[in-house]
Amino acid sequence: MSVTISIVAPIFNELENIPELYRRLKDVMSSTQGTWELILVDDGSSDGSTEAIRTLAQQDKHVRPVIFARNFGHQVAITAGWDYARGEAVVIMDADLQDPPEVIPEMIAKWHEGYEVVYAVRAEREGETWFKKTTASLFYRIVHQITDVKIPLDSGDFRLMDRKVVDVLKSMHEKYRFPRGMSAWVGFRQIGLPYKRAMRFSGTTKYPFSKMFKLALNAITGFSYFPLQLATYFGFLSAGLSIIAIPVVIIMRLIGHGAFLGQATTLIAVLFLGGVQLISLGVLGEYLGRIYDEVKGRPLYIVREGPKDK
Ligand code: UDP
Ligand code: MG
Repeated sequence: MSVTISIVAPIFNELENIPELYRRLKDVMSSTQGTWELILVDDGSSDGSTEAIRTLAQQDKHVRPVIFARNFGHQVAITAGWDYARGEAVVIMDADLQDPPEVIPEMIAKWHEGYEVVYAVRAEREGETWFKKTTASLFYRIVHQITDVKIPLDSGDFRLMDRKVVDVLKSMHEKYRFPRGMSAWVGFRQIGLPYKRAMRFSGTTKYPFSKMFKLALNAITGFSYFPLQLATYFGFLSAGLSIIAIPVVIIMRLIGHGAFLGQATTLIAVLFLGGVQLISLGVLGEYLGRIYDEVKGRPLYIVREGPKDK
């Protein structure tokens, strides 16, 4: 069966959102040309979403469920979507209707114009807390500053990608993933599409601060060595300062100035450098642990039930 557009929505406890998501997507997609499929990746839900997805798939053959053996995280669920999608273009969207399905035809239009990645840019965010907006905005800006790939500001995972792009992404097997960074990294003809990020239809965010923090670490370590280089810069800085300090202290002593006599100075210097060294070790550990996980080569996700054709 040839499919024009695959829509991938990761689902982690979104029971109330599933019927509405399906209804709105069906309305939108039936007005577009070509065939479509909806890949619902159940990321270890425990609220009955799994059963809802199964029932939907029995009623409508457009729906293809991929059910994980446990929660593997949003990024991994997106990856499974790439793997199972058969479409000539693949759209990734959240299942909570914050990414309005009505934007998809605009994405398809851009795709027909020849763009291979159409990423949605959040021009406005509705109904999110001050904390979420500030941390998200800070996140985009920090990542933009210190990573080598220029990930478009305020663009999330909501995007359409051509088959060519998806095939390249499928060949990237890194365990710690940052899909929007990966999709910026591959190049191709890309364009942003401003949209208004809506309110969550139902339920609460599945992204607590701890998960956002992990995502930020994945983004930074996945696309930059900057934290590792910090130790080098700091080493040069403190070595340079101490070399300058030697003649200064000698001269001060010679002219009879009693500078730097006490233990406090020594103690502060030792504690400070000790702290910097420990932080640097921690940074090394962060990268080392990731290398260890990559080397183990475990599968990214485990599917309990899924379509036979991948
Ligand atoms: N999600 C997931 N696995 C997780 C956390 C979230 O598949 O471990 C899904 C979730 O069901 C939703 C999407 O990822 O479809 C985005 O999550 P959410 O809306 O909670 O994030 P926010 O919009 O608050 O950043
Ligand atoms: Mg959301």
